[in-house]
Amino acid sequence: MVTTLHGTPVVAGVALGPALVASSEVSPAAIDRFGDGGFPDDDAALAAYDAAVAAVAAGFERKAGAASGATAQVLAASAGLVTDRGLRSTVAQQLQAGNDLLTAIGNAVEHFVGLFTSMGGLMAERATDLRDIHGRLLAHVVGEPEPGVPVPEEPSVLVAADLAPADTAVLDPALVVALATERGGPTSHTAIIARQLGIPCVVGVAGVLGVEPGTRVLVDGASGVVEVDPDPGDAEARVAADREERAALAAWTGPGRTADGREVKLMANVADAASATAAAGEPVAGVGLFRTELCFLNRDQEPTVEEQAAIYTDVLAAYGHGRPVVVRTLDAGSDKPISFATHPDEENPALGVRGLRLSFDDPGLLHRQLDAVAEAARRTGTETWVMAPMVATAAEARDFATAVRDRGLRAGVMVEVPSAALLAHQLLAEVDFLSIGTNDLTQYTMAADRMASDLAHLTDPWQPAVLHLVAITAAAGREAGKPVGVCGEAAADPLLAAVLVGMGVTSLSMAAAAVRPVGARLARTTYADCEAMAEAALAAEDPAAARQAARDVQAAAAPA
Ligand code: PEP
Ligand code: MG
Repeated sequence: MVTTLHGTPVVAGVALGPALVASSEVSPAAIDRFGDGGFPDDDAALAAYDAAVAAVAAGFERKAGAASGATAQVLAASAGLVTDRGLRSTVAQQLQAGNDLLTAIGNAVEHFVGLFTSMGGLMAERATDLRDIHGRLLAHVVGEPEPGVPVPEEPSVLVAADLAPADTAVLDPALVVALATERGGPTSHTAIIARQLGIPCVVGVAGVLGVEPGTRVLVDGASGVVEVDPDPGDAEARVAADREERAALAAWTGPGRTADGREVKLMANVADAASATAAAGEPVAGVGLFRTELCFLNRDQEPTVEEQAAIYTDVLAAYGHGRPVVVRTLDAGSDKPISFATHPDEENPALGVRGLRLSFDDPGLLHRQLDAVAEAARRTGTETWVMAPMVATAAEARDFATAVRDRGLRAGVMVEVPSAALLAHQLLAEVDFLSIGTNDLTQYTMAADRMASDLAHLTDPWQPAVLHLVAITAAAGREAGKPVGVCGEAAADPLLAAVLVGMGVTSLSMAAAAVRPVGARLARTTYADCEAMAEAALAAEDPAAARQAARDVQAAAAPA
């Protein structure tokens, strides 16, 4: 009998294969056999720890050497984490306190996991990395192979609790045809890497770890459904239909418009010159979100205006000629701590001094950045729009717009806080455009940490409450005759993208890899169908019903 499991859809596509179940633990029997290790003294135990650290770090470095871009950085960061001196000295203290080596390592790791978790946001994500490192260290100490993803012998569906960067970074899309994880949300590492690789992916699938290894599993990354032991004929037919669909996507070349020709600007989210240049080669109408803070994650000191201008120039230079760039001012704080800007020791950083709020006490930081952006715009001649993150009031929008316009640039603000959505008409009286950050808007509407994998059902932009706030914002834009875009992950979901357009959103900005699927889907949907999809989704009670309602409307519409 077919068992149907449900999760949060992350990357669309249908794939079928035997379940390859990743283990996250070293075998308990090996741990029992090792016992206290029989070390003559603490120094000998610590030497065994050092040898395990060296082996694990070497493994990460080897993988980092074979990877590139963000993946290589994540792996290098894991190598740094395992060799951390603080971790070593905590292990040493634990040994001195009379613990055996395995207990000492476990306690030290839990100490840092607790510390990272209490910091929240991106630091909390590091807790997953630390737990992964723990498993690898134990394996080396007791002389077992490192836990993780086994190498598949045939194209398989990878099933896991959650995947650490070290696992996802080395996946071969020819052998791992889909991912289904029991934990993890739409912003987890698993989701980010699956999007990069374009592998169908569903996260937060309750019960998926119970699937027997080798059982055939069908993953539908659009609906979030995982079928265990499906009807073979039906499953093969669905995979074939999906293959045809993907071929149609590859053939789409832009520009973004609905089937009946209404323009929707499809833009790229970029982080630096490399990603901006790569995205410029895609059929994008410009950059809808340049996350400037990502250029400075490792900086202790604020970069000078000239240094910043040089970085922004490299990004802007890849555009122009009718393709504008929307630069977001520093969104430091909370999940993106930046040493020279973030306020340390906040009780609750996600609700603290982050984004535009940093300029309340220290306007110089914002003004120097705006000077640098204006200089880069002057050097390149690229049409440059500037927007602020984490805006909550019309007065904040007014002050920001004044500072931006003083420098001859177009000013906008992000809608990430429910107050901004509710007062969108007031904000639009102050600025030239709005851009909805659905990642934070969802987090703040649902009061659910966007990084908390166990709250993935709440941190879903299909939550009707979030959809209503987007609709209010888009309606205000239509009334004011000003552009309202979406630049959160919601824009990268082809089904949701049509719903957003139906609400009146005028641009969608996303990872460059998502532009073709979104553009191809939009090109087959009329504006009236988008409107009907929006209406159906807004009337739903929960995310699953909203998805289904939108899908039903789209399926019922005559193919364009
Ligand atoms: C958002 O919150 O949706 C957004 C685009 O900003 P970030 O993901 O960088 O916080
Ligand atoms: Mg945000």
